[in-house]
Amino acid sequence: MSALAPALLIRDARGRDTAERLYARLAEASDATLSDIIQDRRPCIIVGEIDTSILALAPALIDRRPEELAPLVFVSCDGELVVPLLGSGAERAELTRRVTRALDPASTSAQPLETSPAPGSGRVGVVGLGPGALELRAPVVTQELEQAQDILGYTTYVRMAGPFRADQRILDSDNRCEMDRARMALELAAQGRRVVVVSSGDPGVFAMATAVVEALDETDDPAWRSVDLAILPGISAAQAVAARAGAPLGHDFCVLSLSDNLKPWSQIERRLEHAAAADLVIALYNPSSKARPWQLAHALELLRRHRAPATPVVLGRDVGRPDERVLTTTLDEVQPEQVDMRTLVIIGSSLTRQFPRTDGGAWVYTPRWYPQAPAG
Ligand code: SAH
Repeated sequence: MSALAPALLIRDARGRDTAERLYARLAEASDATLSDIIQDRRPCIIVGEIDTSILALAPALIDRRPEELAPLVFVSCDGELVVPLLGSGAERAELTRRVTRALDPASTSAQPLETSPAPGSGRVGVVGLGPGALELRAPVVTQELEQAQDILGYTTYVRMAGPFRADQRILDSDNRCEMDRARMALELAAQGRRVVVVSSGDPGVFAMATAVVEALDETDDPAWRSVDLAILPGISAAQAVAARAGAPLGHDFCVLSLSDNLKPWSQIERRLEHAAAADLVIALYNPSSKARPWQLAHALELLRRHRAPATPVVLGRDVGRPDERVLTTTLDEVQPEQVDMRTLVIIGSSLTRQFPRTDGGAWVYTPRWYPQAPAG
């Protein structure tokens, strides 16, 4: 076997049969430590349980930069699951394909198993769960979830999407960035799996659809490009909250994410300025979190320079979920402490108004006409 053969580490004795298949075709047994293998930039295959393997991997990755990592592919003990974990796009995809091919029963027996799907015939459905309540979820999404073999997404959303059957694999992946999760979905589908990536609300609104389409744009691997990709929409938080409050988004509006994790704060401020100047109703996603404590106060300060103190503000928290709370207040009264990362904030325009309901709350709406609109 060549010096470049991937190192193979078995982390669980139940993976011995799977490892034997890989030894025979592809890899070399190694007694080097994970740190040494990573240090030497040697391609690597780990056979074992994914969670303990990731825990073992974590210390070896401290102080490493992603671009200096050789490909590392994880294989479950039964050989059913092949997951590209580390390394750059092309090398990692290549190692993943070699591993998948080496494990494919069709490549040893004359009669391929009918249950193993042909590579390239997989599908990725990027689905929106809506705000939470099942009755607000599109039937086409429920159907996609029923047909899924692999389900990917943040644990919270995967839990919201369940329950699942025992034959469905849950790959909740809080430890991955969105792009890695997207690539994982495409790679599994390229291997023939039927994959669902879950987002809350709508998958195209500050959620996973962009990452999946971007990951596809990034590659010219024909196996990824031939994956059947479908984006299935959901009711977004702004719509769900607006419906509870009345019709605050009834006229022109915009949606902004206040998170400066992926864009600079100066950009957010500029957009807020323009949205405020254009008298748009503004729906704020990701308004506040423990890691971003001051941003909302700054945003409110900026908006108060443009809009009247009595401008209606709607705070919707966990809408469509058991702890739902909707509060209507005004721009001068709203406090950042009333808002957290599970809240969506709607700031009215100069036309937005509110009036009391008999139950003590308020109806909020934005009329569709402007006072000075030309007749006709
Ligand atoms: N794709 C999602 C948005 C994800 S960004 C969608 O279309 O709704 C996450 C932000 O969405 C949260 O910080 C919060 O502002 C908002 N959000 C998501 N679900 C919500 C819910 N059920 N109630 C209120 N706000 C929600």
